Amino acid sequence: MNFSIEGKCKEIRKSLLCLLFAASLGFVLYFVSTLNVSSSKSNRSSEATCTEKACIELSASVLGAIDDTVDPCEDFFEYACANWIKRSPMPSGKQSWGTLTKRSELTNADVKVMLETPIEKQPEAPFVKDILNIYQSCLNMDEINSRGAQPAKKFLKKHFGGWSWNSDKTMTPQELVQTAHSLGSPAIFGFGVGVDLADSNQHILSMEQDGLSFMTRDYYISRNGTAFDILEENTPLYFYYEYMTGVIRLLNPETEGAFINERAMKILQFEQELAKLMMSPEEQRDYNANYEEITMKELIEMTSFEDWDWISFFASFFGEKEVTENERIVIFARDYLSNIGTIISSTPIDTLKDYAAWLSVKPLISTLSEDFQQLRYKLILAVNGVDFSCQERWRVCIDFVQESLPLVVGRLYVENFFNRNIKSQVENFAESIKFEFIDTLANQKWMDVETKSRAKDKANRMKDKYGFPPYLLNNTKIVSEYDGLVLKETDDFWGYTWAINEWAIENHNKKLRKPVDKELWSMSVQETNAYYSPTENAMVFPAGILQPPLYHIDYPSYFNYGAIGMIIGHEITHGFDDQGRHMDADGNRKNWWGNSTSENFAENAECMIDQYDKQTFMGMNLSGRLTLGENIADNGGVKIAYNAWKRQAKEEKRLPGMEKFSSEQMFFVATAHAWCSESLEKAAQNQMRMDAHPPNKIRVNQAFRNFQPFSDIWECPAGSPMNPNDRCQVW
Ligand SMILES: [Zn+2]
Repeated sequence: MNFSIEGKCKEIRKSLLCLLFAASLGFVLYFVSTLNVSSSKSNRSSEATCTEKACIELSASVLGAIDDTVDPCEDFFEYACANWIKRSPMPSGKQSWGTLTKRSELTNADVKVMLETPIEKQPEAPFVKDILNIYQSCLNMDEINSRGAQPAKKFLKKHFGGWSWNSDKTMTPQELVQTAHSLGSPAIFGFGVGVDLADSNQHILSMEQDGLSFMTRDYYISRNGTAFDILEENTPLYFYYEYMTGVIRLLNPETEGAFINERAMKILQFEQELAKLMMSPEEQRDYNANYEEITMKELIEMTSFEDWDWISFFASFFGEKEVTENERIVIFARDYLSNIGTIISSTPIDTLKDYAAWLSVKPLISTLSEDFQQLRYKLILAVNGVDFSCQERWRVCIDFVQESLPLVVGRLYVENFFNRNIKSQVENFAESIKFEFIDTLANQKWMDVETKSRAKDKANRMKDKYGFPPYLLNNTKIVSEYDGLVLKETDDFWGYTWAINEWAIENHNKKLRKPVDKELWSMSVQETNAYYSPTENAMVFPAGILQPPLYHIDYPSYFNYGAIGMIIGHEITHGFDDQGRHMDADGNRKNWWGNSTSENFAENAECMIDQYDKQTFMGMNLSGRLTLGENIADNGGVKIAYNAWKRQAKEEKRLPGMEKFSSEQMFFVATAHAWCSESLEKAAQNQMRMDAHPPNKIRVNQAFRNFQPFSDIWECPAGSPMNPNDRCQVW
């Protein structure tokens, strides 16, 4: 799910630096008139077999994925996916590879074709010429190499006067931090204009802990708060230190290496001091407990430190929108913010300067010459296990273009590749799953009547959006969304990067005190992903996910319900997970729960936390607390999609070669198939440290173990791994 207040990727920096771990997918279609219904359940003869092209292709994929030598009651994910994994070797440059990433690769190939189509053959739409130019400038490695480190050196000179040891500019701590923020880098803390949780139609200033240049807190300090030894070889922090020193050397070839090592060490030690003040990812997840609205005056009192003026700090970002002591601010990290003054005051100005310079230039390194890229690849290989050294340049470039001007790429994608009929098909289908969630409420014995009624209201009013937003076809709207963005045809890749970044920062800040446009999507239409937005009480299923093997109108309904249906159920359930439940039907933060129902929810959730805490993957323990929302959503998603399908299931055609399976069995095969994937060990471990989404194997198996009908249908003996004696359930 994508949730603005918890996301690691601030919208403001999204165009340049975010590596998103996509996770929550969702969407489906519904069985329609094209499906021939057999009169007899026992009739599984060939005439009851779907021979449509889509079914044959699907069958080949699903049958090819199943490993008959694995007992489905021992490990269903292995049963459904082991052969897919064996037969689909992971391409280089990937950290994970599965049916969904493969789907998204197909979409990338479509986007590549689009961006390589000459302008004369493109649809009439704003900024099309610009995205083609940006793409070409990114591909032009000769030009990028010929400039070497120059763009970054000029950038540092302009904004900081250079590094501490060769700077011609004296700057105060506030000027340094302010400058980094003005360049899109959250030095020491994060701030931005976010949706006001108390009134989700409005924007508000918000602040949170931030300021680390590498991964998250857990890569700097141990869980007991001790700083890691930076020089301990073969640790992620050491690899990062090597990367930093390598880059800074390339930017300062005339400076002695040992001196650069020293300066880099100071930067990382400073970041370790910040890390010690930070909440763990689990604590951070509880935004409801961390949420606090204060005024600027209170912020000043709370953080008081010398030579720092918050009013002038914020005024520099919001121009004519006067920021006064009465400005409301939402903070998500009181303790952290209260302590940053002490750290800033006790840190030498040279260290602050090098920290601010590093933080600001780091996101731009990916746009520099080949020698910089080699250092990046080395770091990524060491930390994540992914080998980018053979990655084709076009992959980098389509990602850059998609992140930079998503509305324009989305427009071309919809015009070229999206079957618009799918939208209405899926709407009907999703309706039955939402209905099921509402119906299920009646049986939730742990809920009081009033809370049930409010939950029903919230589910009824949950908006669902499919395919693409209508404004994507509206040229005027696209132009107004990119108002102020000036792209010169003569720009090189660095020039485009900067023009887009500066515009994105300004555009973001402009939103202060402006109403929220709830029609805007926060995901590209070509993404193989989906999200639920708590502040909009809306779920979104972009065009990219409404495709095989998740959905096709010719698929039997048991398959569509098992694949995209489960994902729709997942997103609905997010509206009622440990975070979503704190927001009401209008997307406002409000406690609509009776006390005892709230306690019962916490108890059910605790069961799930304990259960997932015991899960391991590639030798590492999962955090049940960090992944709670996703786990609640997966469990709810399987249950309501299955029950919604059962409610209206009729005898349907089999997939060719899979006649021996019942429709019920096929539902679970479909879910697992959608999540078949493997990961590189280091990448999986990093995901488990930072990401709210567990590895797919845990997602599938644990949700099935908690769902009694699964064990019954697969006739798993009591006490077998897939039919445990103890189950947890929230929804
Ligand atoms: Zn999710």
